[in-house]
Amino acid sequence: METEAGTSSMRRGVAIGVIILGGAALWWMGGNGTDLTSAKNAMSESILAEQPRTGANDPRLKGASRFEEGGWIYVHLEGDAAALGFQHGYLLGPEIEDAFTAISAGMTHETQRDWAFFRRAAHEMLWPKIDEEYQQELQGIVEGLRARTNSKLDVDDIVAMNAFEELPDYYVPWYNKQQKVSHAPNLKSPGNCSAFVATGSWTKDGKIVMAHNNWTNYANGERWRIVFDISPKSGYRMLMDGIPGVIASDDDFGINSDGMMVTETTITQFEGWDSNGKAEFVRARKALQYAGSIDEYTKIMLDGNNGGYANDWLLGDSKTGEIAQLELGLRAYKLWRTKDGEFAGSNWARDPKVIKADAPQFEPNNMETSPNARRVRWDELLKENKGKIDVNVAEKMLGDHIDSYHQKPETNERTLCGHVDSSPRGVDVWGWAPYFPGGAVQAKATDSAMTKEMKLVARAGHPCGEDFLAKPFLAAHPEYAWQESFLRDMKAGPWTEFHSGETAKPQKEK
Ligand SMILES: [Zn+2]
Repeated sequence: METEAGTSSMRRGVAIGVIILGGAALWWMGGNGTDLTSAKNAMSESILAEQPRTGANDPRLKGASRFEEGGWIYVHLEGDAAALGFQHGYLLGPEIEDAFTAISAGMTHETQRDWAFFRRAAHEMLWPKIDEEYQQELQGIVEGLRARTNSKLDVDDIVAMNAFEELPDYYVPWYNKQQKVSHAPNLKSPGNCSAFVATGSWTKDGKIVMAHNNWTNYANGERWRIVFDISPKSGYRMLMDGIPGVIASDDDFGINSDGMMVTETTITQFEGWDSNGKAEFVRARKALQYAGSIDEYTKIMLDGNNGGYANDWLLGDSKTGEIAQLELGLRAYKLWRTKDGEFAGSNWARDPKVIKADAPQFEPNNMETSPNARRVRWDELLKENKGKIDVNVAEKMLGDHIDSYHQKPETNERTLCGHVDSSPRGVDVWGWAPYFPGGAVQAKATDSAMTKEMKLVARAGHPCGEDFLAKPFLAAHPEYAWQESFLRDMKAGPWTEFHSGETAKPQKEK
């Protein structure tokens, strides 16, 4: 969101504000001179894209901080709900504006609905059922954003944006069916992600290892590189990846200070929505913040289940070594759990009752499709590595390029590290046309010991390390020219470790 508003004197004002803020944050955290220099360097990188800030002295920013490393933007947020939101909106203001452009363009293009439709759904259907705590946080995002960028976005925009995984592909098809809309687009629920969680005799140290790569379109995926370190007034501390402006991880990968480890992959060809339910992004955030056990996690996700963004949740409780898979349909659900085993996800439902009730068109035996081909590959890889699985092995698996259907190395829609932009087939079961610019956009991993220390590793871009370049892609595939204004290069970063309470690392600036 480069603007012409920043005259040189304004820029100077901005820079001074950043230095004061950065220095103050480090002073609160007891940082040294080296930290200050690197923090200033990291912060000044992002100033150029900003408008003047007016609220740098706002007391709600106390304790909040931001730095960039390995292609990720790390933000530390702390305090009550309104303060968490304000800090989020303020520290990520330009990135929220930018993400909003890409996300709203995708939502309106795909559904053939205008933005007012989504604002109305957010205001009338979602907002009244959002817990007061999260209403305050969402309102806080708007206030922080406006203090930073003079944004025109309001709370309906931010709520609709938070629901970007559930409104277009779950609510809209349900609505079109209810209203008997003629010529409605054939919308299909998304398939996002490859993930596993393993424990007991499967892992090197007998404790839990959890890993995940996020599959989405590259336009959103390139922006999905925030590390949120959230220390809320109530509930557990959280460390998770996320996208600017959204209060849940949403792809999802997170840990909390009571030792819970959480990830998921989406259920392909899911159908259903309950307009009286509670938004998925609210339940998912609440569960990471308040669940201290697999049972508590399940209870929160089931409470007000609206069917939106229906996932197979892969959970770990590092206190007990137990892992679980919660296949959360709308009409049916199932929970599996074990202290010695593995659960993998690649967008296939597993329970016959869930498939019948919630994903009736899914074909579990069609091995050509992305979900089933990756299921086969997870089986092979996890068995091959049984007893040796640790975070290093997990990183390699997330970048794996074996197509189990062709039985050879390729980069396409069937590999755990997905590159659908090189597939002449696309992914029909998700409505992704041939050469769709989507696939694995970033990856994360952690284990029980790291969770105890509130640590995870993350890699921006394709988990294999390959770059995606927008210009040659668009030249070769003019059918995606509508994305030109917001589709960017997606450069891969290095695997990078992050932990709670972190400030910029002194020696590792690029
Ligand atoms: Zn790859």
